[in-house]
Amino acid sequence: MSILNGGCLCGSVRYTVVVPPKSVSLCHCLNCRKQSGSNRSMNWLVPVDDLMITGELSTYRDTGDSGKPVLRQFCGQCGSPIRTLAEALPGLAVLKAGTLDEASPVPPNYALYTVRAAFWETQGLSCATFERMPTPPSAASALSSGE
Ligand SMILES: [Zn+2]
Ligand SMILES: [Zn+2]
Repeated sequence: MSILNGGCLCGSVRYTVVVPPKSVSLCHCLNCRKQSGSNRSMNWLVPVDDLMITGELSTYRDTGDSGKPVLRQFCGQCGSPIRTLAEALPGLAVLKAGTLDEASPVPPNYALYTVRAAFWETQGLSCATFERMPTPPSAASALSSGE
């Protein structure tokens, strides 16, 4: 077990996260794409206490496929997405791992919402893929953590 550092683009939000995460996903869902400005989001699923954040986060109240609230938290100064808290994932936080100071050293365990992905994005992916969110959502993380 070790610690990695990360933060937003402007540096007003910083964090440490315990490694390894419970699981790592590439999420192609529309909301992750829109929020990240990228074709997919690198999402680390971690126990909420394993992600220690300093600085002020702004919150956008989103809604998941489950109909339950999803809190998308980002730096209000520069807009970098940092953390997502979903009611469907109690006790867990989603770290937007593209904000780590170094690129994620942990490869993805699975890809989500591949129904939304462009054809070229899933070619050659060696991880498990789900067309949408498996139910319950924890089913996907169980793939990697053995729980
Ligand atoms: Zn910032
Ligand atoms: Zn997503």
